[in-house]
Amino acid sequence: MKKRDRKALISRVKKVVIKIGSSVLTNEYGELSEGVFDEIAREVSRIKSGGVEPILVSSGAIAAGMKKLRLGEKPKDISTKQAIAACGQSTLIWYYEKAFSGFGERVAQILLTHDGLSVRKRFLNARKTLFTLLRMGVIPIVNENDTVAVEEIMFGDNDNLAALVTSLVEADLLILLSDIDGLYNKNPRNHSDAEFISVIEEIDERVKEIAGETLGKTTTGGMKTKIEASKTAAAFGVPTIIANGKNSNTLSEIFSGKELGTLFLPAKEKINARKHWIAFTLKPSGEIIIDDGARRAITSFGKSLLPAGIKEVRGEFEVGELVKCIDEMGVEVARGLTCYGSDDIKKIVGAKTSNIEKILGYKYSDEIIHRDDLVVISRMGI
Ligand code: ADP
Repeated sequence: MKKRDRKALISRVKKVVIKIGSSVLTNEYGELSEGVFDEIAREVSRIKSGGVEPILVSSGAIAAGMKKLRLGEKPKDISTKQAIAACGQSTLIWYYEKAFSGFGERVAQILLTHDGLSVRKRFLNARKTLFTLLRMGVIPIVNENDTVAVEEIMFGDNDNLAALVTSLVEADLLILLSDIDGLYNKNPRNHSDAEFISVIEEIDERVKEIAGETLGKTTTGGMKTKIEASKTAAAFGVPTIIANGKNSNTLSEIFSGKELGTLFLPAKEKINARKHWIAFTLKPSGEIIIDDGARRAITSFGKSLLPAGIKEVRGEFEVGELVKCIDEMGVEVARGLTCYGSDDIKKIVGAKTSNIEKILGYKYSDEIIHRDDLVVISRMGI
């Protein structure tokens, strides 16, 4: 990518989601470093004065809780971790509050769960609140609600949360700040010959392979979750930059168009906000195996899925839930919201649309999954 293209890409950014990894907020012993908050507040305030609306996604609640409770070693059991996170979350926000007030900025705390965002009404409600905060000039600081979200603590997946927030607030850039300059072809902490990658044009097999190798014992999500997050943002037409949040001036340098970190370019084909929510926020409840004709109709001609193309149904699901469409080779080709529950679909497998009512005694629609509720996976690179 040419220098001036990167500058142009950055100059178009009006709203940015910045994820601050726990590795940025802690020292080598995993203890919270208070000084970092001032640096973050200074940098974020600076880009805000430059006309860009920032939304922060911050990890670090457990580290803050450990400090508050004067604990030396991170406990292993989930409920203790959740309790520590609850203690730390208020401290974390207090540090941000204090640091940002020094620059005349106000912050708000938003705690989200993946589950909460899976209900479209709540997703839209959260969006409304975030938009209102931005309109009021307040900087939202998002974290996963650790008290109810078990997975977050087990997988440390604030990278994916940040990507979902990017689509939630319709941001045009996602920045993942970590303790490393960006993505290398292998983990540079273990391989001295690791090569730095400055631009990823497309998240292909090579990049997925890097993701597979990057989960170390000490890292929370490592590069795996960062690559996943970049993919989610890319499908929404948003670029991602992974950069080193430990260095000073990282954000100002990114916004001055400097080639810093690893830039993931957005996908060429962008899906709309609702389809993005279907494909990335929801979790599939079952599978529908489709024949080759249905696969082609869906992937090449943008058609709906009809009962005639269905071969088998796997799992139990209700009307309106997300299901995967798998072809005869076992490859997931699409996913979408079903118009019929699994029990009904089992009865009309392979049937003509005109026979649905005769078999079931009623008919909700001709389609099993309507094209407006169907996302073709191969195009999204999921
Ligand atoms: P954060 O807490 O900021 O989310 P993590 O500790 O989860 O960060 O991930 C960052 C770490 O990922 C780096 O410090 C590095 O050790 C590790 N890592 C593994 N593989 C790679 C790679 N291919 N390129 C860069 N970093 C990698």
